[in-house]
Amino acid sequence: MFNRLSGKLSGVFDGLSKRGALSQEDVNEAMREIRLAMLDADVALPVVKEFVKKVQEKSVGQEVLHNISPGQAIAKIVNDALIDALGGSGAVPLALNAAPPIPYLMVGLQGSGKTTTSAKIAYFLNRRERKKILLASLDTYRPAAQLQLQQLANQIRVTALPIIEGQNPLQIAKRAIEIGRLEGYDIVILDTAGRLAIDDVLMQEVQNIRDAVQPVETLLVVDAMTGQDAVNTAKHFNEKVGITGVVMTRMDGDARGGAALSMRAITGAPIKLVGMGEKVDALQEFYPERVASRILGLGDIAGLVEKASETLDIEENERLAKKMLKGKFDLNDYSTQISQINKMGSISNIMDMIPGMGKVKEKLGNKEIDTSILKRHQAIISSMTKAERKKPDIIKASRKKRIAAGSGTTVQEVNRLLKQYDQMASMMKRFNKLGVKGLMRQGLS
Ligand code: GDP
Repeated sequence: MFNRLSGKLSGVFDGLSKRGALSQEDVNEAMREIRLAMLDADVALPVVKEFVKKVQEKSVGQEVLHNISPGQAIAKIVNDALIDALGGSGAVPLALNAAPPIPYLMVGLQGSGKTTTSAKIAYFLNRRERKKILLASLDTYRPAAQLQLQQLANQIRVTALPIIEGQNPLQIAKRAIEIGRLEGYDIVILDTAGRLAIDDVLMQEVQNIRDAVQPVETLLVVDAMTGQDAVNTAKHFNEKVGITGVVMTRMDGDARGGAALSMRAITGAPIKLVGMGEKVDALQEFYPERVASRILGLGDIAGLVEKASETLDIEENERLAKKMLKGKFDLNDYSTQISQINKMGSISNIMDMIPGMGKVKEKLGNKEIDTSILKRHQAIISSMTKAERKKPDIIKASRKKRIAAGSGTTVQEVNRLLKQYDQMASMMKRFNKLGVKGLMRQGLS
């Protein structure tokens, strides 16, 4: 996400920073390039115009032309304008302070990720805010839809409203709120039916439900990959139903990012959450300043630390680090480490959060980094006996054959893993002998 925009904008700033002082012409040229970069990222035209105008007005000031590093000064102005376009500083939280049961109405087109997102929000609020959640599917058009939500609810151990055949969406909504009240639920999430495109019948139905349950949150779920269409959908839903926030899904994909940048200006509604994958925990709060920082290739250290502390087992990592320092790191530990890396999600997303890594990724062709080798390594290790994992030295030809067959790999792959382990082990031994200072000296000489 945002890779192309990020690459192009960094190009503009790199160009500027090579020069000492800037002329008015240089600034004009930079504005032209920023404009093209935004249009290329699929940002809506009126938003681009407003954005460039704002940046231009600030850039013609004395501070930029006479700044010792004018490139940086413009980058700062662009950063501020990006934060503005994305909705201003700070995440806009979900409403949690109304009288329970708080109705959340989920709306959007079919396939946007509405049902998955309903479950993700339930999971997020249940685990993080300790809220008691009731999930209800109002989609009576697709028989599978109600079952899909029920399965997701089971998976995250949250209650789903029992299905009663023959009830219409309005009856289901009323029953969900009633049960929410009687059984002391904090939040009732109503997943409405989607359509392939906006249509009046759908809107009327959503309006009726809205009037009956008076939702505190009406969250529109849109697919970031659909670009400008996502913004048009949001505009329609906002006019017809009124939305309190947007959840943008598939932000883990390679969408160009224009929808995220246009959403606030076109609809006035904030992006509250973003979907970063198919799993129920792949939901994040939307912090405009962090996203702006990512777009400018400055990384998102706050996000990275948060993610690490949420997903990684810190004690486990410390234990592994100690074993490494003692030179006692075996293949069991290697396998544990792979699991920890996998928990962090896609490597490419992690790289986006590290300052400067955006450029490295670009050099690699912006491709998703292949982590299948880690999975194969785990398969190989799990086909080994306890003794083999502890003492890989004992793995000779016949054991290798058995391990390869057991893990569905080849002897060559087993060899490669063992060789890599040897290299790791000898590096750790050196590390152990020299200590941190010694290693640094070696690195410097
Ligand atoms: P609905 O028709 O709007 O209810 O859409 P679903 O919730 O059934 O989602 C459609 C597909 O999109 C499913 O395969 C989901 O797993 C997938 N999906 C939903 N959100 C995300 C996301 O944030 N990232 C990715 N990669 N896939 C998603």
